[in-house]
Amino acid sequence: MKILKIDHLGIAVNSIDEGKSFWSEVLGLPFEGAETVEAQKVTTAFFPVGESEVELLESTASDGPVAKYIEKKGQGIQHVAFRVENIEDALAELKEKGVRLIDEAPRIGAGGAKIAFLHPKATNGVLVELCQRD
Ligand code: ZN
Repeated sequence: MKILKIDHLGIAVNSIDEGKSFWSEVLGLPFEGAETVEAQKVTTAFFPVGESEVELLESTASDGPVAKYIEKKGQGIQHVAFRVENIEDALAELKEKGVRLIDEAPRIGAGGAKIAFLHPKATNGVLVELCQRD
């Protein structure tokens, strides 16, 4: 598989409205608006940083993955996303290597990207996202 770069860091926050002030006002990163992905029970907001981005994640439901993460671990870095050239190829390669996946097939995330998560048990505790943007 070809990994192109760290696409973004996903950071779980209680509230994007409150959370964004540090990233946009203190650090001066451009705020490019929020987008809700209902299927994942999350609202996301992206802040570009050079070749990568910071993604803030706010849960839209108390049983969503981000709400559960905050309940267990508190606010903070929830996942690291790597941009890959071809996500289907990457998932096939990982499956062949016996890596436990959360998503066997890509789904559509914020911004229309194809995304898939690897299981943290396969990565020493880090929730890893693969994403492909065309
Ligand atoms: Zn992400």
